[in-house]
Amino acid sequence: MLGACYRSPVALLLDGRSLAAAIERRLEAVVATGLTQAGRPPGLAVLRVGDDPASGVYVANKEKACSRIGIRNLGAHLAATTAAAEVLACIERLNADPAVDGILLQLPLPAGLAEGPLLAAIDADKDADGLHTLNLGRLLKGEPGPRSCTPAGVMALLAAAGVELAGRRAVVVGRSILVGQPMALMLQAANATVSVAHSHTTDLATLTRTADVLVVAAGRPRMLGAEHVKPGAVVVDVGIHRLDPDPSEGPTARGKLCGDVRFEEVEPIAAALSPVPGGVGPMTVSMLLVNTVVAWCRRHGLDASALADLLV
Ligand code: NDP
Repeated sequence: MLGACYRSPVALLLDGRSLAAAIERRLEAVVATGLTQAGRPPGLAVLRVGDDPASGVYVANKEKACSRIGIRNLGAHLAATTAAAEVLACIERLNADPAVDGILLQLPLPAGLAEGPLLAAIDADKDADGLHTLNLGRLLKGEPGPRSCTPAGVMALLAAAGVELAGRRAVVVGRSILVGQPMALMLQAANATVSVAHSHTTDLATLTRTADVLVVAAGRPRMLGAEHVKPGAVVVDVGIHRLDPDPSEGPTARGKLCGDVRFEEVEPIAAALSPVPGGVGPMTVSMLLVNTVVAWCRRHGLDASALADLLV
C-alpha cells in the first residue's frame, strides 16, 4: 500500500506495459471460456477516417491487441474525403451489426467532419471509448456503463500499485472530456478529495503540491517538474508527445517520446510515477478491450465477474 508516509529515494515505476499484458491474459481467458455459449468471438470496429499518421499507429496497436486476445477486428478505413452522411451510414451499419460489440471512432477526424454528431450516433451500449453523452452521464451518476478508456486505465494502474485513494487529496491537471473530467469523477467516486486545474488556474504549483495523487493531462510537453510535486506523492503522467529529433542522431532519427512531466526531476521525490512511454498508453488500449469484452459478455448473458475489479 502506498500510504501518506511513504518515502522513497526513487519512485516506484507505475508500469502500464506489464499490467496491460496481465489484463490481456485475463481477457483472453474470459473470451475463451465464453466462446461456446456466445457462439461468436467479441467484435470491435475501429472506424478510421482519413490518414492522420499518429492515428494510423494507434489503430494498428489496437487491432494487434484485439487479435492477441481473440477479439475480431471489424473496423473500416474511410477516405479523408468521405462525406459526413456516409460516415454516419457506416456507424449505423455497425450499430445494427450483431457481430459488433464495440465501436470506436478514431479521432481526430479530417477537417470539415464534426465529431459531435458522429460520436452521438454510436449506440451507447457499443461505445467502446466510453465517450458517448449517455455514458458520461452514467459515470456522473455512478451507474454501470463503458468508461472512458484513459482515465479508467489510470484507475487500474493506481489500484494495481495499491495506491490508497479514500480520504487522499487528488489533483487533476486538465479538464478535457476525453481525460481530465472523467478522471476527476472517477477519483471522486473512489472517495478522494479532488481539485481540477486548467489553463486559467493561477499558481498551479501551489495547488499541485497539495496532491497526494497528481494526474497530469495538460497536453504540454514536460510542463510539470519537481516544484509541482509534494515529496511522496503518486504522479501519473497522461501526456504523450513526440519531441523533435536530435539533429546529431542523423537524418533518419525519430524524436523521443515524452510526457507532461519532467520524469528525471520528479522520479527522485515521488513515491510512484508512470513513465512515458509504457505508463498510461498501454492501459488505454487495455480498457478498450475491457469495454468490448464486457459488452460481449452482457449481450450473451456471460459472467464478467472475473473483470469486476477493472470496472470503475
Ligand atoms: P486537451 O488539449 O483536450 O486538454 C488539455 C487540458 O489541459 C485542458 O483542460 C487545458 O485547460 C489544460 N491545460 C493546458 N495548459 C495548461 C496549463 N498551463 N496549466 C493547467 N492546465 C492546462 O488534451 P487531452 O485531455 O485530450 O490530452 C491531454 C494529454 O494526454 C495530451 O498530451 C494527449 O496526447 C495525452 N493523451 C494520452 C493518452 C494515452 O493513452 N496516454 C490518451 C489521451 C490523451 P483549458 O480547458 O482551460 O484549455
